Amino acid sequence: MSLMSDITAAAAAPGGGVLFRAACPDCRARIELSAEALRLAIGGSRRTTFYSFTCPECGTPVRKPAGERIVELLTGGGVRTLRLTV
Ligand SMILES: [Zn+2]
Repeated sequence: MSLMSDITAAAAAPGGGVLFRAACPDCRARIELSAEALRLAIGGSRRTTFYSFTCPECGTPVRKPAGERIVELLTGGGVRTLRLTV
């Protein structure tokens, strides 16, 4: 299991957007997600900074912690970001 490769940027999508490659922890499918399919929430601590998506294979809502590197990757790819302020 690799924590570093939770989510990676794949090739650019045919419309110009970036595709992200992730794995579903529930059904273990390797899936590709557009920026629109992902949400990023940035909170005040590591516990409240996470990204989420719904697995297109099994429909499970997935939420995973987002480290600095993932935050950069997702924001750079145009993923909608919600800043949680306390
Ligand atoms: Zn799944």
